[in-house]
Amino acid sequence: MTSYVSLLTATDARSHVHLIIGTNPLAAARCGQSLSSGASPILIAPGTADLHYALQKRVDDGEVKWIKENFQDEHLFTLGREEIDHVVDAVFVTSGPRDELSAHISVLCKRNRIPVNVVDAPQLCTFSLLSTHVDGPLQIGITTNGRGCKLASRIRREVAASLPPNLGSACLRLGDVRRKIQEEDHLLHIALADGEDVDDSIDQSASFNKLVTEADIDAAKNRRMRWLSQICEYWPLKRLAAITDEDVSNILRSYEDLGGSSSIGRSASADGASSRGRIILAGSGPGHPDMLTRATYKAIQNADLILADKLVPAGVLDLIPRRTPVHIARKFPGNADAAQNELQEMAVTGVREGKTVLRLKQGDPYVYGRGGEEVEYFRRQGLDHDKVIVLPGVTSALSAPLFAAIPPTQRDVADQVLICTGTGKKGKAPAPPEYVASRTVVFLMALHRIEGLVGELTTHLETETQAPRRVLWPRDTPCAVIERASCPDQRVIRTTLDKVVEAIEQEGSRPPGLLVAGRACEFLNKLEKGRVWSVEEGFRGLNFGLEGVDLGGA
Ligand code: SAH
Repeated sequence: MTSYVSLLTATDARSHVHLIIGTNPLAAARCGQSLSSGASPILIAPGTADLHYALQKRVDDGEVKWIKENFQDEHLFTLGREEIDHVVDAVFVTSGPRDELSAHISVLCKRNRIPVNVVDAPQLCTFSLLSTHVDGPLQIGITTNGRGCKLASRIRREVAASLPPNLGSACLRLGDVRRKIQEEDHLLHIALADGEDVDDSIDQSASFNKLVTEADIDAAKNRRMRWLSQICEYWPLKRLAAITDEDVSNILRSYEDLGGSSSIGRSASADGASSRGRIILAGSGPGHPDMLTRATYKAIQNADLILADKLVPAGVLDLIPRRTPVHIARKFPGNADAAQNELQEMAVTGVREGKTVLRLKQGDPYVYGRGGEEVEYFRRQGLDHDKVIVLPGVTSALSAPLFAAIPPTQRDVADQVLICTGTGKKGKAPAPPEYVASRTVVFLMALHRIEGLVGELTTHLETETQAPRRVLWPRDTPCAVIERASCPDQRVIRTTLDKVVEAIEQEGSRPPGLLVAGRACEFLNKLEKGRVWSVEEGFRGLNFGLEGVDLGGA
């Protein structure tokens, strides 16, 4: 069965005449709605009627004209505007479907093509009123097409609550910009066509006129309109709602500068600034964009400036709105500290300009992410607690093993997990952890020096002469190398400590990757007999057949 929906339209009812029939609170409400649309409501009710007080007040205030008569057919054809032969523009019956008069009025209106609405009687109506949210020029109307006005009003409240405040005034402002652009275009075209000076009132010199051709104007016009539509399209609603006078003049000014290129008012939050600026330090997870937390996703959508670490996965960078400036850390060997300083300074400058700066890190910001250092730095710069927000991320240290089917803790196998680094400060090797049979150890930043690491784990250092000596790792300890976990090119190599160096040499490396070692590695995955390592390619972790879940940029 085909089900139809209503044709939603917005009626310009200014100066229309609306007949309101009834005396109850609904009649009062209809009068209010009519008045706010600029129409003139006329109330039809006998002089003896007891009007609802709100209705009485509107009558007393002269807003509503009261014709103290019972309804008569000719009211429909005599009380309206002269220009349409005195036919009224719409009729609202508020006495409900059981009133015989309702059906009569409905038939009469339908026959004469006068829009009619009867309370609680869809079959008697030619139109219905929407549950509306109004904010300045912005109106949002909801209908369930007769499935329940309470439900519609609930949905309307929910929709309205999800909108940023001041959206109505943003509509006003943007509407102004649009109108101004159109007006100026129009004037310029007229001026060009006539070969006359442009009207002084728009503040442009006569020479301007001579320098500019029709093509120039068209180009600029397109550019400016394009900016305007880009802003409407790409700025987060929250930002649009907070649009400032300065933003508006930036948009308009870009028109006068006919030759130059311009930016779309990045200064959106530059005024009143420093009180609003803040920094969000967030983790972006191991690689797959679906591993982002909702909090970090929101931060990405709302940031004014994003400062990302080099390892932040491409799938995550792809989520950044096109208008948001992004700076990616220039970290390369020998430049790590300089790159770190540069980002930190940019962050502080941004915050002082009133921006929401997002420091996007890979994995979790506090797990080998220098997150603590950054927070300390921001504090030293005088940014207090409410200016610096830290959001967790899914760390590769725990998610990579998971995606390789390795439970880091496992009853009767491993009751501890240690996360450590294979690389110390200034490239020096950190102290190797001793072997604990019931412990799983995850080594980050270790694969580039895997040979050295395995050597340290399995043999004593020259300096380790005194007893009690560190417990060494058995050479046959199961381990796994997990690379690019959660990315489409994820790879897992399962082997043992004594073969891992050879395996990596033969298979090559695919950074970033980590090493997991301990008996938990073989709990769900025993190596086939006779094999010294196995390689598994690809990531299937999120392939649970739900629509909208893809394998990350594949
Ligand atoms: N803060 C990050 C770790 C940063 S240190 C986190 O919580 O995940 C960088 C190291 O993390 C890399 O050298 C590598 O060992 C590991 N790593 C990061 N992403 C990885 C991934 N997708 N797969 C495997 N290891 C990863």
